[in-house]
Amino acid sequence: MHVRVFGGSAANRAWARSGCLLVDDHVAFDSGGLASELSLLEQVSVDHVLLTHAHLDHIGELAFLVDNVMTARAAPLTVWAPSAVLDQVRRHLFNDQLWPDFSKISVSHHPVVEFRALETEESLVLGQLNVRWARTSHPVPSVGYLVENASGAFLYTGDTGPTEAIWALAGQASSLRAVFVEAAFPNRLQDLATVSGHLTPALLCEELKKLQAPEAIINVMHVKPVYHDEIAGELRALPHPWRIVGGGETFFLKP
Ligand SMILES: [Zn+2]
Ligand SMILES: [Zn+2]
Repeated sequence: MHVRVFGGSAANRAWARSGCLLVDDHVAFDSGGLASELSLLEQVSVDHVLLTHAHLDHIGELAFLVDNVMTARAAPLTVWAPSAVLDQVRRHLFNDQLWPDFSKISVSHHPVVEFRALETEESLVLGQLNVRWARTSHPVPSVGYLVENASGAFLYTGDTGPTEAIWALAGQASSLRAVFVEAAFPNRLQDLATVSGHLTPALLCEELKKLQAPEAIINVMHVKPVYHDEIAGELRALPHPWRIVGGGETFFLKP
């Protein structure tokens, strides 16, 4: 399995910065950078987008991805999320006002987009990938994903403050190789992190005590550029191997 990270580190690319993981070219988790950083051919290859929550930095480029590929695909682009997340995406973005409801538009005898709700405890099989989800803690309905195949597993939390279920789900992975988690604010802004449902390096340290995989590499995302150096300094306290990922990286998970 290979995982590409999107989301430039440049401060003026606000939502691309929040990231997107593209697995084996076909399955994306969140949409930051999908339309602005992939070639058109690469965009057409994206068959599934799984969303963590409906904040604009995570769903914004989905609007442009759909528009870019609508006449070039042989099948619908499938957008997956738990129903609470999907309801917000459909009500506030693909609502025929802010942007067309592409699930009602057909090209070449298939709808441009298919919205598919993930049920509780459902294990989703997409090609070689097995995907499970659990709730996270954020001001809007939000989830993280555990993604597994024969090469191992990785966890993607999306945006979250201190939380429980996603770490319990991580504990079910047979071979957790990597965690993609956020640390948006430095320790001195913990009040702001708490009210906005994000982590600081100190909070992340506490969260990682819930993780039963000491060898898993911690990939830190969603670092606000203005605090990058401060957060990087504070991340030195993490008990795991870690790195900040800002976009452009590709990780290979090998058995
Ligand atoms: Zn975000
Ligand atoms: Zn958010």
